[in-house]
Formats: sequence, structure tokens, C-alpha cells
Amino acid sequence: MIVDTHIHLDNEKYKDDLDDVLNRARNNGVKKFIIPGADADTLDYAVEISKKNGDVYFAVGIHPYDIDGFDSLNFDSYLDNKKCVAVGECGLDYFRLEGSDEEKEVEKFRQKEIFIAQIKIAKKYKKPLIIHIRDASSDAKKILLEQNAGEVGGVLHCYNADEELLSLANNGFYFGIGGVITFKNAKKLINILPKIPRDKLLIETDGPYLTPAPHRGKRNEPIYTKFIAQKMSELLKIPLLEVEDITTNNAIKLFFNHY
Ligand SMILES: [Zn+2]
Ligand SMILES: [Zn+2]
Repeated sequence: MIVDTHIHLDNEKYKDDLDDVLNRARNNGVKKFIIPGADADTLDYAVEISKKNGDVYFAVGIHPYDIDGFDSLNFDSYLDNKKCVAVGECGLDYFRLEGSDEEKEVEKFRQKEIFIAQIKIAKKYKKPLIIHIRDASSDAKKILLEQNAGEVGGVLHCYNADEELLSLANNGFYFGIGGVITFKNAKKLINILPKIPRDKLLIETDGPYLTPAPHRGKRNEPIYTKFIAQKMSELLKIPLLEVEDITTNNAIKLFFNHY
């Protein structure tokens, strides 16, 4: 049994065959799916998918690429929904910053502001966070500790395989392992994986992006969690079933304690 803790089922790439995508995954042991909030425009569709499918859950959040949408998003109305299991994906992403140095600083400041605001919402509703960090480990870590976000905990996804973030495992944070672990050039993540406490490991596809080998380049799907689990089993030298058990128990502990 596997939980795909990060799958953008509301993405247009699944629009035509969503039921098939879900059934393929179910038939291969994927028992729960979490759609992270990324794009406010498709959030209502994510809610609709979760309503139709008992095993699909969603999160409400504003991605660092989409911070302008923060003010118009009514978080409360989504957080009252029983299928809403987390706040996110929120966080910091300095990878795509554009413009002059000054403009970049302004953008960083805005991202931090919106990230902090979402941590406060998560604490108010006692929901865990789905956190997106890219090229921003120090700032993200600082904010998480300053804001005492460990009170609700969360998962660090799109995690740069940064040693610096590892200590957050002691503060209630989990690490989402995705398709990147199957890439030949993912040396950093491969080296860091055994250092992550086992009780803090989660599996995620981040589909339709970051498709694991051997399907790299094609659309990612939750059924491909099996390639991620297999690779983790190889690297951690533990049986595949144990990887599934550990990560599923961790996912239930973080997201579904109230179910
Ligand atoms: Zn992300
Ligand atoms: Zn994502």
C-alpha cells in the first residue's frame, strides 16, 4: 500500500483520462492521493475530484510562483471541507527569479510574506504544511523555525537534497521523495536519503511533472510511485514492502490522523 502525498490531479494533463489514471494506481496498491493546492484557478476542480473519489484529498495553498493569487483566495472556505488535509503547497522558490537584483529582492520579500501568512493559517486550523523549497533552503528553514511551524509539521517537497534541511526532521517535518531519486544524476538526493530518519520519509510523484525512470520524459502518474518505492528499497537496503509500510504509516500520521 502506497500513499501518493503530492499529485496534481487537477492538472489539465489528466483531464481526459482521470478515472483511468486513478484506477491504474489503485490496482497497483496506491490507496490515497493528495492534491496539493498550487493554482487557485483549478482548486475548485481539485475539491470536486476529492468529492467524487473517497480516496482523494486536497490541500489549499498558494505556490511561490503564484503569490499574486493569495489575496483573493478564501482559505477558510476550503479549510472547513473535511477532505482538506493540509495547507500548501507554499514556500520559497528562488530558482526562477527574474529582473534586476533589486527586483529579485522585492520578489523574495513577497514570497516570504506569503509563506509566513500561510504558516499562520495552518497553525490556526492545525493542519500540516506542504512546503515547496527550491534554491531557498536557508531562508525557508529560518522562517519555519521562527514561526514555530513544527507545531503543525509538514512535508518538505521539491526538496533540494540539502543537508541544511535535514535537521528539520527533529522539528516535525517529513521529506517527500519523488521521481528525482531514480535519475542517474541525482547524486545529492541519493546520498542524503539514508540520512533521513525512516519515520520521516514520504512518497510523492508530483505528477504530471518529474516522471521517474524508466518513463522519464512522459507524463507522470501516481502508479509510478512503485518505481520510487523500488529505488528507495534498493538504496536503503530494506524490502519493498517495508518501504511501503513505513511511508504509508508516516503519511497517515501526518495527514490522516483525524480520519
Ligand atoms: Zn512544488
Ligand atoms: Zn507540486
